[in-house]
Amino acid sequence: MSLSNNPCIITIDGPAGAGKSTVSQGLATRLGYTYIDTGAMYRSVALKAQRQSLSLDDQGAVINLTKNSEVKLNYVDGEVTVYLDGEDVSKAIRVPEVTADASDIAKIPGVREVLVGWQRKMGEADNVVIEGRDAGTVVFPNATYKFYLDADVNERTRRRLRDLKAAGKEVDEQELKKTIEARDHNDSTRKASPLKQADDAIVIDSTHLSIEQTVDEICKIMNKN
Ligand code: C5P
Repeated sequence: MSLSNNPCIITIDGPAGAGKSTVSQGLATRLGYTYIDTGAMYRSVALKAQRQSLSLDDQGAVINLTKNSEVKLNYVDGEVTVYLDGEDVSKAIRVPEVTADASDIAKIPGVREVLVGWQRKMGEADNVVIEGRDAGTVVFPNATYKFYLDADVNERTRRRLRDLKAAGKEVDEQELKKTIEARDHNDSTRKASPLKQADDAIVIDSTHLSIEQTVDEICKIMNKN
């Protein structure tokens, strides 16, 4: 528990498609907290590297590019807008090519160092719900509450499929499942801050829970219902 006049920090980590974003946004809205989508930061750097045709093997160049970038997250009325060097890239960072590159860029320790610095600064100023892969293990190891949100991979695939369909994109379910499994593998086996459950995190399996039920469950645990 943090001291009462310190900001309250709630971390939500977990694999791709476990519902972290929607649950974190629902929770932040319910509590009136700021929402930090750390994945959007890795995605923004990946997008910028792509636009500059940088090879991700040139780690020095990617780190430099990160240091010379500004990513701002604006969370208003339950909607997050992502600004990369002043440009709204909220949609551009959600395409599959950026998703794949974000996972590769996230392996570079120097990139993580820069982004973790930005994330800590945001958490110093406000009560926050921060979601990602290392929010409870690395970014805020002394967070007020830590959650690890998981769900069966078939259910995670179905959820992603629904999101993509809603955005007008048709993808093969088995192919999508393979992509999700590959990203989970990439994220949890890398050397730098791999995805893992913090020892003191509370695990929530959302396989059979709706978003609302998951947020309820978290609020119940925190006595904030
Ligand atoms: O959460 P999201 O799917 O937007 O994240 C995109 C990628 O960014 C993840 O697959 C992961 O490789 C990376 N990431 C990370 N650490 C975070 C957030 C995201 O490594 N805290």
